[in-house]
Amino acid sequence: MTKKSEDRCSFCGCARSEVPLLISGISGNICSDCAERAKEMADEILAKSSNKKGNKHNDIKKEDLPTPQQIKEFLDLYVIGQDEAKKFLSVSVYNHYKRLLQEKSDDGIEIEKSNIIMVGSTGTGKTLLARTIAKLLKVPFTIVDATVLTEAGYVGEDVESLLTRLLQVADYDVAAAERGIVFIDEIDKIARKSDNPSITRDVSGEGVQQGLLKLLEGSIVNVPPQGGRKHPEQKMIAVNTNNILFICGGAFDGIEKKIASRMNTTTVGYSASKDSSHIDKDNLLQYIAPQDLKAFGLIPEIIGRMPVLTYLEPLDRTALRSILTEPKNAIIKQYIKLFAMDDVALSFEEEVFEYIIDKAIEFKLGARGLRSITEAIMMDVMYETPSSERKELCITLEYAKSKMENSKEARLRNA
Ligand code: ADP
Repeated sequence: MTKKSEDRCSFCGCARSEVPLLISGISGNICSDCAERAKEMADEILAKSSNKKGNKHNDIKKEDLPTPQQIKEFLDLYVIGQDEAKKFLSVSVYNHYKRLLQEKSDDGIEIEKSNIIMVGSTGTGKTLLARTIAKLLKVPFTIVDATVLTEAGYVGEDVESLLTRLLQVADYDVAAAERGIVFIDEIDKIARKSDNPSITRDVSGEGVQQGLLKLLEGSIVNVPPQGGRKHPEQKMIAVNTNNILFICGGAFDGIEKKIASRMNTTTVGYSASKDSSHIDKDNLLQYIAPQDLKAFGLIPEIIGRMPVLTYLEPLDRTALRSILTEPKNAIIKQYIKLFAMDDVALSFEEEVFEYIIDKAIEFKLGARGLRSITEAIMMDVMYETPSSERKELCITLEYAKSKMENSKEARLRNA
């Protein structure tokens, strides 16, 4: 018999003596059975609402998807040349969408993801390609840099922090981030120093690659919400990387030597038709194969997780000339716009473009140099024109030369 005054659960009405535990609140009580049920309900509702939030990024419909050709056409507006890399990227992104769609069907065939690796000298457009593709993506996308990474326990950032930016871009919506795309720049900087496993510790090399492998192959990793290093008090966010597409890019300086030496051996070992005279020695990157990445210092497991390998062409004079004026966002168009905002009509003598290209080639800066050289030429007029009455301005070859000669050329050489 229960006493009249005995406390009861405000949810099920059971008396304290009838339940394992009764917890008292300010204006009511809850028994341990009801508390357990309440927790289950709360979990269910929260999970549903987080899926709903995810739909903001997840609501992909097949009919809305751009085809690989449309994606490439979009890339063509901003990036000169690099047709092969564009094609590979377009197909990979398209297939990524299709993977995300397939989860809704249930036919037993699972399309596996194909992470990509792009190899190309600095300033040939790897990051530009990634940035441009981000403009039309329907999933969260971020660019991260592999150079900051070190093995756990060393100064630097943990590999998992690569996903922090993705979470931030997705407003910490984990479901959306789990369908995103991450571009890892400078992947070559985590190559180990030699093809053979090192005897001494290689802080930023093999250990980091092992960590990265976990992300690439798809697993649940704990991501520090604010990035940086993990520390024990920090609350981690669990992210499943199974559906995250990774696109990696790197210059792999000196990999041509590895390609050349492999090709010499295969030429001898294979058929006579692979005559070395047919090899385009000025652009060895086009022959890049997974074993060259291994020779450069990437571990085979990482290479295996990036089945799509593509390269970027070195930029020749014609490409550099086009880059200066043709893309939607071309450097020269940007200067013309800057001056137009002050009602000044800016023009250039054709020879100035050739001169800028000569300097970019001389300084070995690729397309990256075009901007710094143009900036050096334009600095004084950008300083003086806004306070003058000038309405027209033509940059002549003579003027450009005088500015370059006076400017700190040495500084540009090191840029
Ligand atoms: P990478 O990542 O390969 O080192 P970036 O993509 O950062 O090189 O290129 C640096 C700059 O050079 C870009 O911002 C862009 O202005 C220009 N650029 C490089 N390659 C191209 C290209 N193929 N088409 C148009 N612009 C390019």
